Amino acid sequence: MVLDRTQSKLWFERAQAVILGGVNSPSRSYKSVGGGTPTVMVRGQGSHMYDVDGNEYIDYLAAYGPSILGHAHPAITEAIAQAAVDGVLYGTPTPSEVLFAEKLRQAIPDLERIRFVNSGTEAVMTTIRVARAYTGRRKVLKFAGCYHGHSDAMLVAAGSGPSSIGVPDSAGVTANIASEVITVPFNDPDILAKALEVHGTDVAAVLVEPIVGNFGIVPPRDDRYLGQVIDLAHQHGALVIFDEVITAFRFHYGSAAQMYDVHPDLYALGKIIGGGLPIGAYGGRKDIMEQVAPLGPAYQAGTMAGNPLSMRTGMACLDVLQEPGIYDDMARRAQVLTEAAHEAAKRHGVSITINRMGGAFTIYFGSHPVRNYDDANATDSDQFARFFHLLADRNILIAPSKYEAWFVSAVHTDEDIERTVAVYDEVFKELGQH
Ligand code: PMP
Repeated sequence: MVLDRTQSKLWFERAQAVILGGVNSPSRSYKSVGGGTPTVMVRGQGSHMYDVDGNEYIDYLAAYGPSILGHAHPAITEAIAQAAVDGVLYGTPTPSEVLFAEKLRQAIPDLERIRFVNSGTEAVMTTIRVARAYTGRRKVLKFAGCYHGHSDAMLVAAGSGPSSIGVPDSAGVTANIASEVITVPFNDPDILAKALEVHGTDVAAVLVEPIVGNFGIVPPRDDRYLGQVIDLAHQHGALVIFDEVITAFRFHYGSAAQMYDVHPDLYALGKIIGGGLPIGAYGGRKDIMEQVAPLGPAYQAGTMAGNPLSMRTGMACLDVLQEPGIYDDMARRAQVLTEAAHEAAKRHGVSITINRMGGAFTIYFGSHPVRNYDDANATDSDQFARFFHLLADRNILIAPSKYEAWFVSAVHTDEDIERTVAVYDEVFKELGQH
């Protein structure tokens, strides 16, 4: 039942001759699923994508998160078309950035002041600079396996992309920079408390994905954990940055912080808020944000920052996400998918663990709960690789890494879900034979 991928192979060969490694982001390579040719896509429509050979896929990759409205959603297409007609870049202030900032603050009132940038990487990198400027301190505490973009300091013990390709710390990041980053396991308040006792007076910020998305979906251990993280950081004079690049607008219309009723000092945002266009944003407490130029001494700038194309498309995306029932539907469909996976796995004697939050989930191969990066690492990579290819051969697209998530979008249909469930039996049967 292997699909014809002749054209994908040809395009990937050409790609490798001109684009480094054939991919513009390493997570797109199939290195962590035993190699092979990444599927080369030409079109997306709704919850489906189509490759250069004409094969159709149900898309649970969702471009690593942003495509919560699927592909070519009419609201998105129209926003892009209208923005294009008005010209895509002015290099001046524009109403669309004001309207969009107001909309974000309305959804997440902690965003007293906002800056738009062009990627999640930039957003996180800048929050760290701002925290250092505000506190006059040098170090950052992060959690092992969380990915916060590819700025130098953030490539220390950094989650999905780097861990998939077996580069825990990137070459080219100096020992000096690594020495500014303290790493502790997620979901363990005691270890965090101890680390802060040792390093607390040097720590500018504690940075966390409130619901982890980068060693799979890993929620906080209980409803108190994120509050404990914030309290501990504040006791030591450190700021708290929530990296909500994946989580904001993923589980409900707003932040993950709101789900746990907590208030970090700064947020980094990206992905969904751009409706599929390049975007990042950071923001938070006014007195802290006022560190940034032109009001303050910390510098951050961007030629493309706040461009009308991204602003208007992001606005259109959030408008759709405000429609009633959208998040409930995503969660319900994801629940059907995970329950069916459990049943099929059990039927065929395959041990799996699933972490799900709303419409996002990760299927890990192993029977232990996954609460931190070590747990995720200990799951079976070979079984995952087989799983990935068995699904792809049956027209189901997920991310080629055991550290990523399935994303159910607002446009997946019950038929998509049924089709997916229908292939589980065969897939887990094959896995059960290993
Ligand atoms: N933070 C988190 C939590 C992310 O998942 C990512 C991207 N996967 C980033 C930051 C970096 O965002 P970008 O790829 O847009 O630079």
